Amino acid sequence: MDDPQAPASRRARKHRVNEGVNRLLQTPGWNPYVQARDDSSPAGAAREALGHARIGDAQRAAESCAECGKARAASGDPTDLCPRHLAEAMGTRLP
Ligand SMILES: [Zn+2]
Repeated sequence: MDDPQAPASRRARKHRVNEGVNRLLQTPGWNPYVQARDDSSPAGAAREALGHARIGDAQRAAESCAECGKARAASGDPTDLCPRHLAEAMGTRLP
């Protein structure tokens, strides 16, 4: 709940700032998150961090994946992934 005692101008200003940030994030070529995913940009460190996060996501998903379980049992490698999660970890998506 908004505090009715708070000055309206302060709340309105905060709201305006949030709107401005959101508009900026939607501007093509500005959003740092989009740029980090763009393979043509040399955003090395940021992209590497995103890649690690993606691998973490894939391995978390793989913990509840039966195909990954089979791949691990077949190879004896406890970090093995099924083709779908392997592709996700590599940043590619299977058709
Ligand atoms: Zn899997």
